Amino acid sequence: MAAARSASWAFEEVTVKNKAALKHNMDLVMFTGGDLSDTNLPNYGQSDSCYLCTAQDNVQTNHMKTFNVPIIYRSPLISAIKQQRKQQDRMKKDFTPTLLDFGPVRIQLARHFGFCYGVENAIEIAFKTVDENEGKRIFLLSEMIHNPQVNNDLLSRGVKFLMDTSGRQLIPWDELSADDIVIIPAFGTTLEIEGRLQDMGITPLQYNTTCPFVERVWNKAEQIAAKEYTVIVHGKPKHEETRATFSHSRHHTPTVVVKDMEETHRLAAYILGTQPAEQFYEEFKGQYSEGFDVTKHLQRVGVVNQTTMLASETQAIADYIKQTIQEKYQLADNQVAERFADTRDTLCYATNDNQTAVTGMLEEEADLAIVVGGYNSSNTSHLVELCEEKLPTYFVSSEEKLLSRDEVLHWDFHHHQELHSTQFLPQKETPATILLTSGASCPDAIVEGVIRKLLSFYGLEHKVNEAIETFG
Ligand code: SF4
Repeated sequence: MAAARSASWAFEEVTVKNKAALKHNMDLVMFTGGDLSDTNLPNYGQSDSCYLCTAQDNVQTNHMKTFNVPIIYRSPLISAIKQQRKQQDRMKKDFTPTLLDFGPVRIQLARHFGFCYGVENAIEIAFKTVDENEGKRIFLLSEMIHNPQVNNDLLSRGVKFLMDTSGRQLIPWDELSADDIVIIPAFGTTLEIEGRLQDMGITPLQYNTTCPFVERVWNKAEQIAAKEYTVIVHGKPKHEETRATFSHSRHHTPTVVVKDMEETHRLAAYILGTQPAEQFYEEFKGQYSEGFDVTKHLQRVGVVNQTTMLASETQAIADYIKQTIQEKYQLADNQVAERFADTRDTLCYATNDNQTAVTGMLEEEADLAIVVGGYNSSNTSHLVELCEEKLPTYFVSSEEKLLSRDEVLHWDFHHHQELHSTQFLPQKETPATILLTSGASCPDAIVEGVIRKLLSFYGLEHKVNEAIETFG
């Protein structure tokens, strides 16, 4: 049986139990350096602080928990490459890509991509729950993660989704009974849904796969709230995670969601008082907490964000709000904290590492980039956004989208449509160089599938096994 909230984040080989762990009711909260696991956790720990709550505790561990993820999601090639890179660079300082030189086609593979801690944790809990509860009805509140293969695999095991990703009900609540199992996805859920499940006799957190890095955002919002700041959430208002964060935050303090810099500019106009207050309620409909008073609740604010946003955008939004507050109240730099909570962004380590790895990858000369992931995956779309700034980029959900050497189906996330493009591979004699990465919910097996398909267009499929031996 899966564990209740926070109890499943036990880490292995804990050397020091810490205050932060007690606070979060965990065995251990975070780490300072050491040998990181296959889940590629970050090396933020150099400062002896708790990554989840920023508490200053002496936190040490040697190994993070490793997860039992179905073998079909693993790739011998990618595992061998990741393992070699990890051995060469244990503290993850080197974000240059790995070159796979197959002669006519060269692939620059990002230093960091694929399943993150939260996704592996969610997959382990979900499949274990299915295995251990034969005969019981098992529901997921919505897609567990934003990857079609993983979600389809769960559906094929009899799991049903109660809602779609935008919160539209697929199965009425009244069809559930107290005997049913409901799994909370990695994005977490709202307090309202937790309450609803409780009322039906279903223990809401018994099968909880909420990622600790999402819970960290909730903790940050609560900390800000305790100091009487309003919370501004930078996130996609309809995204499951942002809806959950909004719900948790508004429980403690007035909260408003902004999705991008354009909305931030519009919110800033209300901070400055240059827009009539009554327009706010129409303009930000559905994005502010009940009782939000725009004339009072934008005087003292702090910013948290969905864990998968673009790092540069979150930074720019926080800076802009800070500057606006400073201008409105004529604050000197040393007075800003009176009205602007100084929060580090609440992006998760996987988002940070994947985006940094893309930046490193983009330093290389290349003809095109391929980004692999679910079309509704927020973190993947931001990797696409970064690549698009530099070169032609194709966002594909699997190798099946690579139709031939000349044709590809790919997702245009700006306009939410799948496009059919031709001649996506360079039509030249010199080697084609392709940058390749994937989102945090994409199985490595799919990335290997993409590599195999690309090689097949050049008659080089057999080279994959050679590459496994080279890196193995
Ligand atoms: S992308 Fe980040 S927040 Fe989301 S599940 Fe992975 S580690 Fe957790």
